[in-house]
Amino acid sequence: MCGIVGYIGKRKDIYPVLIKGLKRLEYRGYDSAGVAIIKDGEIISEKKIGKIKELEKKVGKGIIGGEVGIAHTRWATHGGVTDENAHPHFDCNNKIAIVHNGIIENWQTLKKLLEEEGHKFKTNTDSEILAHLIEKYYKEVKDLAKATRLALKKVIGAYGLLVISLDEPDKLVVARKGSPVAIGIGKAEYIVASDATPILEYTKKVIYLDDEEVAVINHEGYKVVDLENSDKEKKVNNLDWDITMAEKMGYDTFMLKEIFEQPDSITNTFRGRIIPEEGKIKFGGLNISDEELKGVKRIIISACGTAYYACLIGEYIIENLTEIPTEVEYASEFRYKKPVINGDCLFIAVTQSGETTDTLFALREAKNLGAKTLGICNVVGSSIAREVDGGIYLHSGPEIGVASTKAFTSMIVAQYLFGIYLAELIGKVDTKQTKELIYELQQLPDSVRRILTLSDEIREIAAKYQDNRNFLYLGRGNNFPIALEGALKLKEISYIHAEGYPAAEMKHGPIALIDENMPVVFIATKDKVYEKIMSNMQEVKARKGKIIAVANEGDKEIAKIADDVIYIPKTIDLLNPILTVIPLQLLAYHIAQRKCCDVDKPRNLAKSVTVE
Ligand code: GLU
Repeated sequence: MCGIVGYIGKRKDIYPVLIKGLKRLEYRGYDSAGVAIIKDGEIISEKKIGKIKELEKKVGKGIIGGEVGIAHTRWATHGGVTDENAHPHFDCNNKIAIVHNGIIENWQTLKKLLEEEGHKFKTNTDSEILAHLIEKYYKEVKDLAKATRLALKKVIGAYGLLVISLDEPDKLVVARKGSPVAIGIGKAEYIVASDATPILEYTKKVIYLDDEEVAVINHEGYKVVDLENSDKEKKVNNLDWDITMAEKMGYDTFMLKEIFEQPDSITNTFRGRIIPEEGKIKFGGLNISDEELKGVKRIIISACGTAYYACLIGEYIIENLTEIPTEVEYASEFRYKKPVINGDCLFIAVTQSGETTDTLFALREAKNLGAKTLGICNVVGSSIAREVDGGIYLHSGPEIGVASTKAFTSMIVAQYLFGIYLAELIGKVDTKQTKELIYELQQLPDSVRRILTLSDEIREIAAKYQDNRNFLYLGRGNNFPIALEGALKLKEISYIHAEGYPAAEMKHGPIALIDENMPVVFIATKDKVYEKIMSNMQEVKARKGKIIAVANEGDKEIAKIADDVIYIPKTIDLLNPILTVIPLQLLAYHIAQRKCCDVDKPRNLAKSVTVE
């Protein structure tokens, strides 16, 4: 969940590299941060609770020089948010320093054993045991990489780990299990990080460690082994992201930039995959043969958070087009039930980062049970991208804002493309239909652009409702997941309680909440349930509830009932959620901004949830 950064190389000052790297990873966790650099036979370290700028303030003019360094931005799992509990952590003699992303599940047992052997602990974290365990083995084997491997063999849990030691000051040891680690290979320097964004600035060449691999890096090069010390061949990947993609580019926040990028990110998801004149979809990396796909009898889509809602829309699209029974499962629940899966089943894992632990474990479970697996994710080379049989990358560019926006709409587009592909393959749609479906998809970026021009108008609406403590979001059909997503966005970034419901369910319970203090956001576009939604709106009005409606341009009726209306262009039902979600992203954004919330880094949240 946190971010780790490491550097070894010939650069004169490595502190700025580490701090800049942490800032790029701050979206992953941000309750405290710390740094340790080996310089002139000493480990210089500082840690501080709060955001990275607090650490910078504490360090003051910076740490000049140094040979190798590690840094961490924490999202606490074990031990309170205090300066002491912030990483790096040290062994008894302050000779070994580590930063750790993940959870050591057997930390209590190990801590007890180590204490019995005389180790003195300074923090309440699970992570500190790693420094002491490495110290213990170092005394025996006098080799930092070997001591790290021996320590990791004793550990149950997940780790992205960086280790430095005064006894081997020209070395950076890196290890991974469960938590992602990328190693950037520059000119006479290596930058290691939880994802590629801190690396982009220095090199486009990266290797990704796999589980239970350890990399030993010194000034001459790197070597990757497994925990048994067998050599591992690693593929060097070329990053295709540009550093400007990971910057705000004049927007106040990453979230606003990402909302406004959607005309392009949507296009990037379908670019090169549609052949409009033939009504065909093509994918580069499905890796599941047409024959195998024709044999699919059931589809399970699994994800967490916002991605889960994108999957609910995917279910609607895929089932509608292919008539193959499709269901969506929370990845965290799927792992612990007794899933019924066989070889006829296609399992689709959907995740922005490709590192979401719950989704990764659900995927492994499905694979073990014999399902064919497909990944829909944004981060190229991520764990899930590497473990699935085949995949569809979103290509939406780095998403830094913690609350997902552009990845969400791209996830819907990717599932739409897959739905058309499969439906065509099994003869459920003809070329005329696929041409129309593709045509409608191509119109979306312009429609999204039009909705984005309403941002100021939505800001005014936000002003009217920003002090309400509760919101209800209602939608039907494939706009029900948009009600869920709209409510989630508001909760995440403005801390206002909000609930999404299928509009018709309101009368079975939530209607009791309606009074003049309850704003109800209706998604009321002209689709086949429009009339029904209008009746639900009347029910709210009759109880003096305040209504904000998302409706289609030209709808004159709706303004007679709703207090505020956001008018959006029309599209086909299957694609409608991509348009209806944009005003809700903006509404949540503007309410949060007006309340002076930190929308890019909402409290308690982290972007890529790499813990269970
Ligand atoms: N479990 C560790 C801690 O609580 C690491 C958490 C993280 O990944 O940030 O310090």
